[in-house]
Amino acid sequence: MQVLWKCPLTDERYVTQRAWEGAILDGCPFHPEGGCGLEKLGSYRRVEPPGARIPRWWCPKRRESISLLPSFLAARLRGTLADVERVVAMVEAAGGVSAAVDAVHPPDAEKPVGFVGALRSIRRRVRAVRAALTAIATLLPERFAGVAATLAAFREVLGGDAVLVRLREVAERHLGALPTPLGFRARASG
Ligand SMILES: [Zn+2]
Repeated sequence: MQVLWKCPLTDERYVTQRAWEGAILDGCPFHPEGGCGLEKLGSYRRVEPPGARIPRWWCPKRRESISLLPSFLAARLRGTLADVERVVAMVEAAGGVSAAVDAVHPPDAEKPVGFVGALRSIRRRVRAVRAALTAIATLLPERFAGVAATLAAFREVLGGDAVLVRLREVAERHLGALPTPLGFRARASG
């Protein structure tokens, strides 16, 4: 399972300081009373941002690993929540996925992904963010009832950008029920 780590570092500092090496898990989420033999299991590599690793523990009683996901990183999508937000914001500004492809993935980029690959990657992000925003409005109706599932609408309510990172903190106790990339709920279907 994944647990949120309110890591105060930027993604660059996280990598240069190898923050995962000093990460501490307060207790086993399955056995808060302790005594389950929780042990550190090292770390695993993230593709993005380059060089980043995620610290991981193992609960022998539950036979499950627990990883601490720094609050700025997307769950189950490459990169940071800021990266995901940038892409979805471009789609909203362009008025659609196809119209945003060249802006998100310039054809003259160092590693071009191709039109079909770009389309697929952008669609995944748009779909995932919409689902997460819809879920947030349902889980926190006192703050977000009636707010459209768009970044623009949530930016207006919260004032300013970086809404994905902020929403993760606002909805912290619901992260287990929230879909990725904000929350940690396993996806039912692609
Ligand atoms: Zn345990």
